[in-house]
Amino acid sequence: AAKDEGKRTYSHFSPEMSLHLKNIADVERDLRKAQNNLDQFELLYQPFIEKGTGKIIGAEALLRWNHPSKGVISPHVFIGIAETTGLILPMGEWIINKVCQQLANWQGVTSPAFYVAVNLSAKQIHRQDVATILQEKIQQFSISPQQIHVEVTESLLMKDENKAKKTIDAIRDIGIQVWLDDFGTGYSSLSYLRKFQFDGVKIDRSFVRDIDDDAHDRALCTAIISMAKNMNMQVVAEGIETKTQAEFLIEKKCCIGQGYYYSKPISAEAFAASFFQRKKLA
Ligand code: C2E
Ligand code: MG
Ligand code: MG
Ligand code: MG
Repeated sequence: AAKDEGKRTYSHFSPEMSLHLKNIADVERDLRKAQNNLDQFELLYQPFIEKGTGKIIGAEALLRWNHPSKGVISPHVFIGIAETTGLILPMGEWIINKVCQQLANWQGVTSPAFYVAVNLSAKQIHRQDVATILQEKIQQFSISPQQIHVEVTESLLMKDENKAKKTIDAIRDIGIQVWLDDFGTGYSSLSYLRKFQFDGVKIDRSFVRDIDDDAHDRALCTAIISMAKNMNMQVVAEGIETKTQAEFLIEKKCCIGQGYYYSKPISAEAFAASFFQRKKLA
């Protein structure tokens, strides 16, 4: 949804329109240049917390672009452009490679069940044999398929449902979990749960944000959690920022949480230093 927000800003007419268009051209030009130097890209890691125990059970990999002159650029700014230009394909492969390399690197300090969730984009699902790439990379780095999850959004599935279904089934056949991201924000979330098989859903941040003072949002979160359970899916609440949000979700038996309350996305080094320290010493 956030990605779409970015697109909407660009497509609406505004006095800054020409500036926006120039920015897009700039971003596209710099993005093409950066393809020869993917070192400008970095994956940050944001933990998933098992709420009962407080244990770190995994992390989501979130892409950043360390632009040589503009500083850190958020994926909202460039993922959409990377999509339309097709640059997302080499970048997406780089991301999968990087995550598998990182998991191999962390082997021994993480529990064997520790996983990293990778966000997939529409082009990756529709135009590239992403299942084959995942399979090759987990073999190359001797990663167990359980250590990788992929996250897809509804808007990504919409473009060609049959192709998306084949790809998702192929990914799940490898033993890689597929999660539905930003659940509840699309046009037909429930029908997607009928059409596709997911291992879990991530309750969108927009439902979590107002838990403290909006009874409707509390009811929606509660309903999503029990629906997921009844359908044998796991459920993560994303964007948890406060203790009261965390407590409400624990009470409702949403077992996995993610958000600034626990940790912002941080570098691989910082992640290992904050969360794996005790294990390393032991
Ligand atoms: P997403 O997958 O839904 O990721 C969650 C976003 O919410 C991340 O933004 C994360 O930093 C942010 N977030 C997490 N906890 C909190 C919180 O408590 N409060 C607030 N306000 N925000 C929180 P980020 O990293 O800017 O990524 C934005 C979107 O860009 C992602 O949404 C995802 O759709 C896309 N994206 C990020 N990395 C990749 C990637 O490697 N590949 C692809 N295809 N898309 C990516
Ligand atoms: Mg995600
Ligand atoms: Mg999300
Ligand atoms: Mg989101």
